Amino acid sequence: MKNTERFENLLIKNGLKRTGPRLQVLDILSKRDSAVSQPYLEQVMGKIVDRVTLYRVLKAFEEKGIIHKVLDNHGTANYAICSDGCSAHQHHDEHVHFNCNNCQKVYCLDSVKIPAFSVPKGFSVAQLNLIATGICKVCSEKTN
Ligand SMILES: [Zn+2]
Ligand SMILES: [Zn+2]
Ligand SMILES: [Zn+2]
Repeated sequence: MKNTERFENLLIKNGLKRTGPRLQVLDILSKRDSAVSQPYLEQVMGKIVDRVTLYRVLKAFEEKGIIHKVLDNHGTANYAICSDGCSAHQHHDEHVHFNCNNCQKVYCLDSVKIPAFSVPKGFSVAQLNLIATGICKVCSEKTN
């Protein structure tokens, strides 16, 4: 299946209309091996849409379980495509994220799951973040 077709199906499945900006954002996110930062998206999408439209696209995708947001060490939002287990208001991206100190990229370490744990009575977890920092594979190969 072609990518555009796949994205169109994804939008339809989630009750979202096919629009240029939505397809464009999915295209950008799926082409990268790391999460994509909001400033980068603003820069690329800025030629097509204004900031408010981009913000709405991201928010809708997040609510539908299509993408998840990761804050990096500087508090900048990064976005990555979700795994198949995510649905509207139910994210299951319980994997570790990795923020490279050198290239600043944020990676989803899909194979590294956050271990299950319990919290004290009276507390309920809505979101869980585990960010590892260090040097990513690409950067460490460059220096060697
Ligand atoms: Zn998710
Ligand atoms: Zn790096
Ligand atoms: Zn992730």
